[in-house]
Amino acid sequence: MSSAGIPPLISIVIPVFNEEQTISILFAALRSAIESCAGYRWELVLVDDGSADATVAEIERQRPVFPGMVSLVQFSRNFGHQPALTAGLQRSKGDAVVCMDADLQDPPSLLPQFLDKFAEGYDVVYAVRTSRVATGLIQFLYGMFYRCFRFLSEVEIPLDAGDFGLMSRRVVNLLIAIPERDVMVRGLRSWVGFRQIGIPYDRPGRAAGETKYSFGKLVKLAMSGFFGFSTLPLRVATFTGVASMGMALLYFLFALYAKLFRGDVPQGWTSLVGIILILAGAQLISVGILGEYIGRIHAQLQGRPLFVVHSEREL
Ligand code: UDP
Ligand code: MG
Repeated sequence: MSSAGIPPLISIVIPVFNEEQTISILFAALRSAIESCAGYRWELVLVDDGSADATVAEIERQRPVFPGMVSLVQFSRNFGHQPALTAGLQRSKGDAVVCMDADLQDPPSLLPQFLDKFAEGYDVVYAVRTSRVATGLIQFLYGMFYRCFRFLSEVEIPLDAGDFGLMSRRVVNLLIAIPERDVMVRGLRSWVGFRQIGIPYDRPGRAAGETKYSFGKLVKLAMSGFFGFSTLPLRVATFTGVASMGMALLYFLFALYAKLFRGDVPQGWTSLVGIILILAGAQLISVGILGEYIGRIHAQLQGRPLFVVHSEREL
């Protein structure tokens, strides 16, 4: 119960793209999950990401399962999962918001656990995959991605956690106030801070249909993660420039020594080696300096606040 005695409102945000086969199974699973969580009010925010099949008709058909609780945002074309999630977050009104896929790979049966943690005062509860149904190369790439991301990222990001999870209203309000274009909800969610907790679960296979995440879309998401949360790639030129400049100086000293004391080098070799090595290093360092400025422009454009305040008090 909230302080005013009204049960808290929980929004469930679900991006859907060509999910005509999963909608009815999803609604049935959501219904039984919601029935097992007493003392809350619910709203479903479905965002249709430009489906070309009967997804929207199917949602309209299933609407009576949740009378007066479903809202639907229809995109004009396919803009992608992350923009769809963002649209859902912007329209959600709940005291807490759950992000969920439509294909039941994010099982609604986890809702009671999310809500327990929310009631304990956690602002973010995310589900952590202990197993992955995807096999072979894709599984390997997913694992690699999360590990590289963790290494590169400037914020601490939990391993093997997707967007499936619950966020409190203050976290959602912070996220939707950020004007960043290349959103990655799971990254920003970690960036926000507050009390966060992971809940392990076995990720099942898709309830029906095929994955809607093409390889290209996955790569785009990975790039949003890398470039949105790390300036390390920009710094590579600075590092290699400084290293090659250092080595150039050493090698140039050796070339000088060889010319002056051994005299067995061809005419012009010493100066040539010196010029090439030092110029190469200087060029890389210049690129690095440009990179530093671009990194600052990039951060400014992302428009994330400098800090997030948890609370303030007079003592
Ligand atoms: N989705 C979307 N737009 C897209 C791709 C996917 O809204 O361009 C939705 C999709 O309908 C599903 C969720 O995002 O609800 C996750 O997609 P999917 O299950 O296909 O991805 P996977 O689980 O294979 O990574
Ligand atoms: Mg899926």
